Amino acid sequence: MTSLAEFISASPSAFHAAQAVRDACVAAGFTEDTATTPGGHVHVQGGAVIAWWVPESPRARFRIVGSHTDSPGLMLKPGAEFAGEGFRQLPVEIYGGPLLHTWTDRELAFAGRISLADGTSHLIRTPAIARVPSLAIHLYRGDVPELDRQAHMQPVLCVDESMREIIAAAAGVDPAAVISHELISVDTQAPAVVGETLAAGRLDNLTSVHASLAALLDAVDDAEDVLVLAAFNHEEVGSASATGAGGPLLERVLAKLAAELAPELGDPLELYAASSIISADAAHAVHPNYPQKHDPTHRPLINKGPVLKINANQRYSSDAETQAVFTRAAAAASVPVQTFVGRNDVPCGSTIGPISATRLGIPTVDAGVPLLAMHSARELVGLKDQAWFQQALTAYYKGA
Ligand SMILES: [Zn+2]
Repeated sequence: MTSLAEFISASPSAFHAAQAVRDACVAAGFTEDTATTPGGHVHVQGGAVIAWWVPESPRARFRIVGSHTDSPGLMLKPGAEFAGEGFRQLPVEIYGGPLLHTWTDRELAFAGRISLADGTSHLIRTPAIARVPSLAIHLYRGDVPELDRQAHMQPVLCVDESMREIIAAAAGVDPAAVISHELISVDTQAPAVVGETLAAGRLDNLTSVHASLAALLDAVDDAEDVLVLAAFNHEEVGSASATGAGGPLLERVLAKLAAELAPELGDPLELYAASSIISADAAHAVHPNYPQKHDPTHRPLINKGPVLKINANQRYSSDAETQAVFTRAAAAASVPVQTFVGRNDVPCGSTIGPISATRLGIPTVDAGVPLLAMHSARELVGLKDQAWFQQALTAYYKGA
């Protein structure tokens, strides 16, 4: 199993992340199909991936960890680059809610998938080709203003080739063969271990995808329940898509498992009520320069343990029973747990948890590792938290 840093480097886009999960499962002996026979199976659809493990004589229970493969960034618009003051620039849409200033002054590549005239799709990753330069401070009068999402975020192309030629070269095809693309900006600086922390892009939410993948592969030999890993696309834009948590993908896989394993798994209503989902997604560590942003009594720290996320208004899905599910698993693995509950005057964000819980009716808990600088092009996570989170998910999958 690759390290988190290696996994992040191999996953510059949601599509690559889904593929990286598939590759790791196949390397561990899973088959790429939708069968429900004993053993491991993995199914990729676009930027989403679902893997499941069926024991020889499964108990009537799903143990599910859900996460998301996508991260905020700059998504290349269709069509050619445009001319700006003698420069050539790339038209981009803002995908999700990135911290815009963190995307300036970085060497940017683009990664994702393209579709060709012959009907095939390919994952590609370009080299570093562009920058979003910030304006020199001498050219401001007074305070530096906020970046405008349209005017200030269009990357400057730094190479001679056209974007069409760059895309075709990355795929090894003729430029005329490229029909369409879904390509998102990637900071080409490699992840870096800094003491007990890891600085990298896409920690929200590849920390959870990696931890759940490692936990699943670790737990299969001891599994008594049907184990499921689901990693969805489009969480950062609301999850409403064919491959988002609001779509039918996980529901269809679970319904198929329930139907084809009916002798062991029993009545679907009882099966779903006995099952559980850990909605795994990054949490907010308290920021020492902005301590007023956290509730006085819930202040998660880096490297003090994974975080249970609670919100009475169901922005997170945790309830008393499901909090106990995660806490029990963590205790079985001797993992400390912190809690996050937001202030009443600061919005807290959300996850796939409430969406998949609403869709499936399966008790769900929200948990994840605490981050600093969430939605920056380069976020920060504690390495102890990441290891602990993986251990807690392994204990959960093993039946704790
Ligand atoms: Zn997230």
